[in-house]
Amino acid sequence: MTRPATPHPPEARGPAPPGPWLFDGPAAPRPARGALPAAVIFDLDGTLVVDVPYNGDPARVALMPSAREAVAAVRAAGVPVGVVSNQSGVARGLLTRRQVEAVRDRVEELLGPFAVWAVCPHGPGDHCGCRKPAPGLVLAACARLGVRPAHAAVVGDIGADLAAAGAAGARGILVPTPVTRPEEVAAAGTTAPDLLAAVRLLLSAPPTAHPARPGAAVSLDRAAGAS
Ligand SMILES: [Mg+2]
Ligand SMILES: [Zn+2]
Repeated sequence: MTRPATPHPPEARGPAPPGPWLFDGPAAPRPARGALPAAVIFDLDGTLVVDVPYNGDPARVALMPSAREAVAAVRAAGVPVGVVSNQSGVARGLLTRRQVEAVRDRVEELLGPFAVWAVCPHGPGDHCGCRKPAPGLVLAACARLGVRPAHAAVVGDIGADLAAAGAAGARGILVPTPVTRPEEVAAAGTTAPDLLAAVRLLLSAPPTAHPARPGAAVSLDRAAGAS
């Protein structure tokens, strides 16, 4: 499959241009049919990898528990995997595009290629449409994959990930960490104790049960084995 080339703007200096950075992966498998989600899109920091604030050092990339197994399980089901990541360190002058790409390369060394990465380089004050909890990253990733957001699922570790999913019309699953706030766990429609449990839930549960509104989902915790 031929895809348009991803534009590569010069190294970010000063205000980042509007819109997320998009990085293409290999051609995605055909969208899944039946009960499977059409895509599973993961948050990066605190979800796939240990959260090291504003990390631009590939050597400091460490996987979260069961990340490798979870991503492999999604791929094995023939479902494309993506990443959506806020990287406000760029806007804060703490990260360069080159560093973001180096971290991405290291993540893909550890986890294999993702079909798409959508990265927000803006800061909270930029009022962009892509920084989670806004839906822009999820929408951009889904558009690049050619899947409807309503058929996609987002896995993240904080409320902003689920809010972005909900605002995009996608299903969201929260995998809390010790730093996830209790109110974010309480507001999550669906939680799972780890990434593999989240993925097993997505690959086994009906995809049409999620609402567009965040916080209104039926809890499926029991199905995930969480208490
Ligand atoms: Mg996170
Ligand atoms: Zn943004």
